[in-house]
Amino acid sequence: LFSELPRYQIDSVFALIADYIADTHPEKVSLGPGVYRDDQGAPWPLNVVEKVEKQLFEKNDAGRHEYLTIAGDGTFLELARDLCFGFGEGTPEEEKLKLKIASVQTISGTGANHMGALFLSKYLKPARVWISDPTWMNHHTIWELQGVERRTYPYYHAEKRAFDFEGMMATLEEQAEKNDVILLHACAHNPTGLDPTKEQWKAIADLCERKGLFPFFDSAYQGFASGNLTEDSWSVQYFLRNKPNMEMCLAQSFSKNFGLYGQRVGAFHLVSNEPSSELRESIKVNLCHLIRGEYSMAPRGGSTIVKTVLLDEQLKKEWQNDLTIMSDRIKVMRKALYDELQRLGTPGTWEHLVTQIGMFSYTGLTAAQCHALRGKHHVYMLDSGRASITGLTSENVVYVARAFDDVVRN
Ligand code: PLP
Repeated sequence: LFSELPRYQIDSVFALIADYIADTHPEKVSLGPGVYRDDQGAPWPLNVVEKVEKQLFEKNDAGRHEYLTIAGDGTFLELARDLCFGFGEGTPEEEKLKLKIASVQTISGTGANHMGALFLSKYLKPARVWISDPTWMNHHTIWELQGVERRTYPYYHAEKRAFDFEGMMATLEEQAEKNDVILLHACAHNPTGLDPTKEQWKAIADLCERKGLFPFFDSAYQGFASGNLTEDSWSVQYFLRNKPNMEMCLAQSFSKNFGLYGQRVGAFHLVSNEPSSELRESIKVNLCHLIRGEYSMAPRGGSTIVKTVLLDEQLKKEWQNDLTIMSDRIKVMRKALYDELQRLGTPGTWEHLVTQIGMFSYTGLTAAQCHALRGKHHVYMLDSGRASITGLTSENVVYVARAFDDVVRN
């Protein structure tokens, strides 16, 4: 019955991880997966998360394993919404904006992207979705599964090793049509580590408004990119406040910024163009209808941790401190790799290693060079040349730089 099933190549990062695990070389280095590692190359539960986990354990709440509601934990959802849309003042303008936003809890960022794609494919019925080239591979899978035509817009200018703003704008201007969905990375673009400037974001917002495109923000790195929560959601907050008639949505993940990868904590927020509690409720009910049929409700454990932190000013400060620890370490490693390549006189320009932001660097190494890195030097990164900077440590960065130098020269 099943002998004719297609042979899918599930995201190449998983094959890379398996090869890395099987490699017995003592100096092997993993620059593949998008997970934070400390300077010893070990997983790092955030200090604030460990503290809250202990508190919750001691509380011994008998309801801690109960079901959530279908929409999820209401307090968590309000805090999550306030975080990405930058609410906090409680002004009448803010309250009005909140009336436009329907939120549901999801199985992390992937689940939020999926619920968004599912909801929009059913109710917006876009002719196509525009995805950056390159992007997080799962964007393609998620939209392919909804049967929506996928088109790509240029994002990376290989020669300049820069964001291809002109290419993106020209393509969308000429080819995108009303009601098309446009997927945008809110910050720390995966895999390139290149984001639009504020002026470019404004132009993108104007283009979406003028052409009637539906912006779909994917926010997986808020606070993780620059260490600053407001700065990392500038794009989202600009669209919300400056394009009052534009409808849009946002998939939010707490995997990276809380280090809660396996807990699957996320939210999907749909912004309508009417500040109406009735419309908001109707959107929410429709999202709940889809959720009920898919996974009934999201898990409780991780969202309780996030909620506990965001509810408490002191814990929130401690969280910000943890975010700074992570984002600073990444910046230090970027610089260390850059300095070592300079010292070695490695051919080519390497400034992009320090100017790109977030977890990833698009190194510019070719697929052949990445193969050689693996085969000769036991340094594992994707063939696209994407390196997860968090795999670098004070101990291995010189080794990695020498390996880069070797594959570039030979
Ligand atoms: N979106 C982007 C751009 C990502 O890079 C990731 C994770 O790598 C996600 C969404 C979702 O991750 P998760 O489902 O673990 O929250």
